[in-house]
Amino acid sequence: MKNVFSNTKKILMGIIIGLPLLAVVFFILTLNMNPSHLGFKGLFSIAIPIIIFMSVYFFIFFTGKVDKPRWFLTFIVGILFISGFFINFLKNSGSLDADCAEGRNVTHFISIFFDTLSVPGGGNGIYYLLILFLIIAFGAALAVGRGWCSFICPLAGIDDCFSRLGKKAWIKNIPTKWFNVPYAILLVCALIFAGNITPSTQCTLSCPSKTAASITGLTYAAISTILILGVGLLILLLILPFMTKKRVFCNLVCPIGKLFSLANKLNVFSVAIDPEKCKNCKKCASLCPNFALDKSDFTKSLAGYSCTRCGRCMDRCTSKAISYSLDKGSSKNSNLIKLFYVYPCILFAAVLTSRMMANTLYTLLDLVF
Ligand code: SF4
Ligand code: SF4
Repeated sequence: MKNVFSNTKKILMGIIIGLPLLAVVFFILTLNMNPSHLGFKGLFSIAIPIIIFMSVYFFIFFTGKVDKPRWFLTFIVGILFISGFFINFLKNSGSLDADCAEGRNVTHFISIFFDTLSVPGGGNGIYYLLILFLIIAFGAALAVGRGWCSFICPLAGIDDCFSRLGKKAWIKNIPTKWFNVPYAILLVCALIFAGNITPSTQCTLSCPSKTAASITGLTYAAISTILILGVGLLILLLILPFMTKKRVFCNLVCPIGKLFSLANKLNVFSVAIDPEKCKNCKKCASLCPNFALDKSDFTKSLAGYSCTRCGRCMDRCTSKAISYSLDKGSSKNSNLIKLFYVYPCILFAAVLTSRMMANTLYTLLDLVF
């Protein structure tokens, strides 16, 4: 009888705590909704993100397992984002003039990104969207640190997925100097951005919109675009994660991931090992896809700054010795702290990606039916 009461209490608690999340997802999805989307396809496209976000939350709340539902969410988000991006890219094909060296091109590429992301208020212009995105990213950095890379980023699920396929790592040792590559990429991005002050430089060297611009012939820019976007993403998001069993793109390429690693220091949460419970089996270090636990130096009780708080290690540790922590070491109140940490992660993910999911689903349904 006591069990029935405590189960009912837990279910009620789960529903009550989940209601604000449901309200936020519903609000984001219906804000300025296109009235022509009110038919079956529109309602279906809205229902799916609601079901996905709420299922992920309930699964984590009732089972305490984070990694699998989180990964499922980011994988769906990743597939929909990439599909939506390429559909928008193709839709814009031919929309640029061949002589577009007027600074329009960068705005154009970024606007495809934001069109796909479909954050609320999209009609207010590219600078509004850029600032809104930066505010959301900064808020996420403070609230969840590098949890951004495991719960919120629309590309993370693909990298994560391929790092899980198969058991054997084909490439085992990655030299530590490679961890500085994202800083170099950040520098190059800054230089390209600065170079865009003279648009013709950017247009000739790095314009990713050229292939969408229907410029005849394989220009240098078109070839570089195909190489960077196509082959590059294939290698970095699919092949290398599969061969190393590590999230290569997130840790060795993405400059945003590197910046969020620094945000781990600002954020009050950490992933910590309780030395009283730990059996020193090092299974967590083998499983960590983000180079955050070092097998050869297992003396620290905190995961390294590259930890994306993915939950994989804590879900698999049979001693329950590793967990989200507020006091950097103890695993006391770990279930409550887990909820405090994961809930804002799901909220931020819903704010940033639920509309994109609904819009891409609608577009895909529209293409098929
Ligand atoms: S898996 Fe758990 S018990 Fe094993 S080393 Fe990691 S924290 Fe310790
Ligand atoms: S230390 Fe654990 S939570 Fe952090 S990235 Fe590695 S597996 Fe994920």
